[in-house]
Amino acid sequence: MRQFGLIGRTLNYSFSQTYFTQKFYSLGLKEHQYDLFELATIGELPGLLAAQPNLVGLNVTVPYKEAVVTYLDELAASASRVGAVNVIERTSDGRLVGHNTDYVGFRDSLRTFFPIRGEGGRALILGAGGAAKAVEVALRELGIPYWNVTRGRLGPGLTYEDLSPELLAAHALIINATPVGTFPNNAECPRLPYEALTEQHYLYDLVYNPTETLFMAKGKEAGAHVKNGFEMLCLQAEAAWDIWHGNAR
Ligand code: NAP
Repeated sequence: MRQFGLIGRTLNYSFSQTYFTQKFYSLGLKEHQYDLFELATIGELPGLLAAQPNLVGLNVTVPYKEAVVTYLDELAASASRVGAVNVIERTSDGRLVGHNTDYVGFRDSLRTFFPIRGEGGRALILGAGGAAKAVEVALRELGIPYWNVTRGRLGPGLTYEDLSPELLAAHALIINATPVGTFPNNAECPRLPYEALTEQHYLYDLVYNPTETLFMAKGKEAGAHVKNGFEMLCLQAEAAWDIWHGNAR
């Protein structure tokens, strides 16, 4: 038996469980299983691992992506660069290695969505949380210059008050890395001068529920290219699968 699972605090619905259970079925992997483990605190992780000796791979979700680091033996380069872990690999000798595949998923989906590189393809990242950090690492790797936009001024970053039509005109790529617009708050969207958007803009929403967020709908109305976070979600899951099979990217 090879057991996999997801750790987080509240796990009502899990994309990962559905995704991997279907994958095991389609590959005919009868000895594979994916379970949900709600942990009241991350301090419960060692007890979980002791009780589940067949557990060889875990996904990590909110709020443990950063706190889990102290429980691991090693961080892969992806996790050190992002400063957060969303995948744990339990090696055959029992070591726990932390990885970050959110960054891989975002990077690989952006490659096909956004064709511009260098100064002509500057980006704005809305938010500065865990997902935004994964986005930042991917943009650095792809050579796309960016600014973060937050509600309160954060170091040299921008606030929503700074987002003039001129500033938007100078940034072809706008990435929503906040939860704004997520179901059931479908009527909300990040505070932007949407009238300044054109067909030269690319709007990438990390949110995937609803399929078309208000941020995307407003971008589409202005002729911009739009994308939601579903492909990123699938690519990060595939990257986790590769890691658990010794094919880390
Ligand atoms: P997080 O750590 O909670 O970060 C939230 C960020 O959003 C913070 O910078 C926060 O800004 C900002 N924010 C929160 N509420 C806001 C509001 N009402 N107005 C403006 N900004 C607000 O969340 P996260 O883990 O980074 O995740 C962000 C989103 O990405 C979530 O919707 C998550 O589901 C999604 N995500 C998608 C994928 C995927 O594979 N598609 C992967 C990871 C995450 P302040 O600093 O101003 O508080």
